[in-house]
Amino acid sequence: MTSMTASRAADLVAALLFVLSLAGLSQHRTSRAGVVYGIAGMALALTATVVVASRSVSAGPVALILLATVIGAAIGLWRARRVEMTQMPELIAVLHSFVGLAAVLVGWNSYLEVEAHGSHGRISPDLVGIHHAEVFIGVFIGAVTFTGSVVAYLKLSARIKSRPLTLPGKNALNLGALALFLVLTVWFTVSPNLPLMVTVTVLALVLGWHLVASIGGGDMPVVVSMLNSYSGWAAAAAGFLLDNNLLIVTGALVGSSGAYLSYIMCQAMNRSFLSVIAGGFGIEAPAGGAGEQGEHREVRAHEAASLLAGARSVVITPGYGMAVAQAQHPVAELTRRLRERGVEVRFGVHPVAGRLPGHMNVLLAEAKVPYDIVLEMDEINDDFADTSVVLVIGANDTVNPSAMDDPASPIAGMPVLRVWEAEQVVVFKRSMASGYAGVQNPLFFRENSSMLFGDAKQSVEEILQALGAGETVGAGVRSAQ
Ligand code: NDP
Repeated sequence: MTSMTASRAADLVAALLFVLSLAGLSQHRTSRAGVVYGIAGMALALTATVVVASRSVSAGPVALILLATVIGAAIGLWRARRVEMTQMPELIAVLHSFVGLAAVLVGWNSYLEVEAHGSHGRISPDLVGIHHAEVFIGVFIGAVTFTGSVVAYLKLSARIKSRPLTLPGKNALNLGALALFLVLTVWFTVSPNLPLMVTVTVLALVLGWHLVASIGGGDMPVVVSMLNSYSGWAAAAAGFLLDNNLLIVTGALVGSSGAYLSYIMCQAMNRSFLSVIAGGFGIEAPAGGAGEQGEHREVRAHEAASLLAGARSVVITPGYGMAVAQAQHPVAELTRRLRERGVEVRFGVHPVAGRLPGHMNVLLAEAKVPYDIVLEMDEINDDFADTSVVLVIGANDTVNPSAMDDPASPIAGMPVLRVWEAEQVVVFKRSMASGYAGVQNPLFFRENSSMLFGDAKQSVEEILQALGAGETVGAGVRSAQ
């Protein structure tokens, strides 16, 4: 077998491993195997690439490739070990920006190489126009992905506000940029030149920035998966330029699965897919949505404990704050204790609770909460009316009634967990601050709601203590402003 045939076979096996990886990751039970398939596929792909490179170039460049691989792997391992679960979305956004930047550099390199040395017979004369189009489109997708991901990173890490940027005529600006790109692509295909390359790069960098800056905090989950999709298409474009079939297949897998995930998330959040990928196209600046203010009531941990002790059924709705507090283990212990007392305990998980898809499910699984009591939003929403107590642990936007009641709210139309229909709601958080979307939550001022202020982990541990001590305190609550 020649080295080229062996490399093609390795590419094919690696592509199959990536497909198996995606299939494995789609289910909790098989996700670990999915990760192993992905690692094996990537190791095989890298090895095959280095082996093929070593046949066609001298030892120096191969040593450089190996050095870059070792440095990259070391940085990757270091970051993966240190990153908190709550920082995963911002890390993913940074990684997407690298893919975008790589696609831009590959495109520029390919353009400059052909300009300087000609195509060396590598590209048949009939296909030179196609090559130019590939360069132009690859640079465009890569640059949009790069700046879009940088803005997503800045928003997700709270370095800039998550509020949407609403420039006057923002939809016309986006459409105009796309139309200009199409015209420039035709022009560049016919007559490639440096000023056009510079123009498309700048245009795409600005468009990527504007597209993501225009999207509000509540829609960021869709943006993250959308950028995942863009990074896949950017990689596929680089694959065409590098004549690397595996990169094309892998990019297409990432691009299509990211697009499908964005579509599912848009459906779950009642958002228009096309509107979100077009930077909030058709969505104007919200007219208000501050939500009602009023008096909230406070409850202490021992009071919440006695409420729970007398409950028939309890639903726990976790959110980002549970992840920040790392409260999943005491929450699992509370679940176990209440169930021992004969209380029916279930979890209601919103599709975008936390900061990445499946965030809450991962934390609850880590704390060994049984899967069969962890329900999706649609499975639990009709049961709140028949629930004695809901514990809202670090969730905010995902339990905000203004999404249903207030058409002017920035999160209007997003389906939420209807926790307020229960007899009593206890909200665990540290202050009256708003959630990720920056919207005030009228739930906190409802008659049947009370706030349990403090770090969620500490509050749940105090409840456990009170339950253990058999403390019985009246469920009275203190009024507060
Ligand atoms: P939110 O982000 O709306 O609210 C979390 C709440 O947790 C805050 O109000 C905060 O209040 C509280 N909190 C923070 N730390 C602690 C702590 N240590 N102890 C107790 N409470 C704490 O959470 P949700 O999960 O309800 O909603 C997720 C939001 O994130 C949605 O807007 C979603 O669109 C967005 N998003 C989701 C992504 C995903 O893929 N799932 C990705 C990107 C964004 P306080 O400061 O007062 O304690």
